[in-house]
Amino acid sequence: MDNALIDPFQRAISYLRVSVTDRCDFRCVYCMSENMTFLPKKDLLSLEELDRMCSAFVRMGVQKLRITGGEPLVRRDILTFFRAMSRHLESGALSELTLTTNGSQLEKYAVDLYAAGVRRINVSLDTLDEAKFARITRWGRLPQVLRGIDAAQAAGLRVKLNAVALKGFNEDELFSLAEWCAARDCDLTWIEVMPMGDLGNEDRLDQYWSLKDLRARLRERYTVTDLAERSGGPARYVRLEETGQKIGFITPLTHNFCESCNRVRLTCTGGLYMCLGQEDMADLRAPLRASPDDALLDDAIRAAIARKPKGHDFDYSRQRPDGQMSRHMSHTGG
Ligand code: SAM
Ligand code: SF4
Repeated sequence: MDNALIDPFQRAISYLRVSVTDRCDFRCVYCMSENMTFLPKKDLLSLEELDRMCSAFVRMGVQKLRITGGEPLVRRDILTFFRAMSRHLESGALSELTLTTNGSQLEKYAVDLYAAGVRRINVSLDTLDEAKFARITRWGRLPQVLRGIDAAQAAGLRVKLNAVALKGFNEDELFSLAEWCAARDCDLTWIEVMPMGDLGNEDRLDQYWSLKDLRARLRERYTVTDLAERSGGPARYVRLEETGQKIGFITPLTHNFCESCNRVRLTCTGGLYMCLGQEDMADLRAPLRASPDDALLDDAIRAAIARKPKGHDFDYSRQRPDGQMSRHMSHTGG
């Protein structure tokens, strides 16, 4: 494709993550404070604007679209947007339309998501203990999420669980989460907690449970084989030989994936972050709103990609979380 998006380090940008809202029905302690002030509605891209924006990226070679948030399924009429994006699946321009969700609305939407062409989803779930779940999500209720996962699987969606590794919180669920996922044929990926948002009372360094330690603990019970397989993203995988189960690890705090980074992130206000760990953001909403024609928008996208940095600066190896970002994960969409 001659209009493909190639960054200064010769990486082709083929993956766009789109946050469709900053709102959420949960208040996970590592993600939001309890009293969040959300953005005024007029700042958010409308569903039509989101369509124009995503379609421009698809035209320029984005093949994989992941919808996230905040909680994407709490955005009003979000199914209209999924249905609109399915035309890019039908044309073959898009190879995958996926979503990352807390699972609370899946019971309601799973069948419709499948009908819109979604085949795989990521559900964030850090614990299988009802009381702990309520504590970590503040407003979430575990049974509702479990019913959502049931509904998703019944609808034919492949489910991957994402669990944030939290010291002193879910360390004791390392094996039970793996076994639960194996029994339900779900994939499982552990994510290292990142220094996002405002620290408030929740000190990320206290919460930090290194995935290196987590892997070592898995080795106490299983024969763990490192897999070469990469998804183009930051996840690394291992196989537990005794069960054949695959487990992923996302360690954003090491530089192990920047060199192959093929992704950019669009916020719900039309800001494009070229790197999760850098402050540089390109405003795409202004060129989008300036003209009904996409020429200005296309130019702005190309100019932004030309600024994609080589990598991020997160670093926990010193005593404070260096490279700390002031923005919330719910704004950039994880
Ligand atoms: N609400 C949806 C959900 O929870 O899946 C989508 C948005 S959420 C911001 C996306 C992912 O970011 C979730 O898997 C969540 O656990 C993760 N996340 C949020 N804050 C994080 C942090 N400080 N460090 C690591 N992961 C974080
Ligand atoms: Fe909401 Fe997801 Fe953030 Fe939890 S991690 S508060 S579910 S956006």
